Amino acid sequence: MTSAKDPICGMTVDTATAAAHGTYDGQPVYFCSVACQTAYESRRAQR
Ligand SMILES: [Zn+2]
Repeated sequence: MTSAKDPICGMTVDTATAAAHGTYDGQPVYFCSVACQTAYESRRAQR
């Protein structure tokens, strides 16, 4: 199992069962929920 850290809430998520993930700047990013992914994307859009 591979785990990754949700950058929004800091939770450790299993990459195999992550509720949401996306690729940003060529890097895969995993989230515990779609809500965290949405928050991450809106945060990026502000930069
Ligand atoms: Zn989260």
